[in-house]
Amino acid sequence: MAQIRLDNIRKSFGAFEVIKGVSMDIRKGEFMVFVGPSGCGKSTLLRLISGLEDITSGTLSFDGQPVNRLSPSKRGIAMVFQSYALYPHMTVYENMAFGMKLSGRTREECKARVEQAAGMLQLSPYLERLPRQLSGGQRQRVAIGRAIVRDPKVFLFDEPLSNLDAALRVATRLEIAKLHRGMHDTTMIYVTHDQVEAMTLADRICVLRDGVVEQVGTPIELYETPNSIFVAGFIGSPK
Ligand code: ADP
Ligand code: MG
Repeated sequence: MAQIRLDNIRKSFGAFEVIKGVSMDIRKGEFMVFVGPSGCGKSTLLRLISGLEDITSGTLSFDGQPVNRLSPSKRGIAMVFQSYALYPHMTVYENMAFGMKLSGRTREECKARVEQAAGMLQLSPYLERLPRQLSGGQRQRVAIGRAIVRDPKVFLFDEPLSNLDAALRVATRLEIAKLHRGMHDTTMIYVTHDQVEAMTLADRICVLRDGVVEQVGTPIELYETPNSIFVAGFIGSPK
């Protein structure tokens, strides 16, 4: 069964329709990548899945239950944005622990979770630093760590690497791939306009164009049998 099902999802801002009837399934543990040109609706779609925006029409369900009206905090989702928005006056440790404050965990549990996530992301030496004392790549890893400690069922990433320089982008991309391999049942939904990121990270890729799904498939399927010149152009195959 699909973990996340989008059934004819539409979203308008005023009279302007941005998402124009998207239907698709995302499986538990899957790494699903949304690609498409700037302005095609990728961020909006993530915000609809997370509950940060209301759906205009259609049904979003998690594990078979409609969640259109469920608040973001009840959806078991963590989101990582391209601008990592850390609290500047808090240490790395405090930034990562902050999201757990409301969860009712003990101080010891919080500490253990932060230390485990820091280890996974190679942040252990930096826990007492402030964000401004870190590189861009380290800051983005803190933002990912902050999501990990909440133990979400689903991670949403919105172009998390786009503010990093080329070398860091590759390193952080490998880190995210490793993270997914290490968290077996954790679903990742990842938005990018970078075709290399899409091809290397995805179990499946969904190509969006102007609020509509052009094609969904594995990287190989899209590369070998794109169903339009648009998809071929995006994936880089010679159609
Ligand atoms: P992408 O992430 O693919 O670049 P977005 O989802 O951010 O695209 O935006 C899709 C379209 O929706 C754009 O034309 C954008 O201007 C518009 N849009 C996004 N958010 C809002 C909003 N809150 N109000 C009005 N228009 C919006
Ligand atoms: Mg966007």
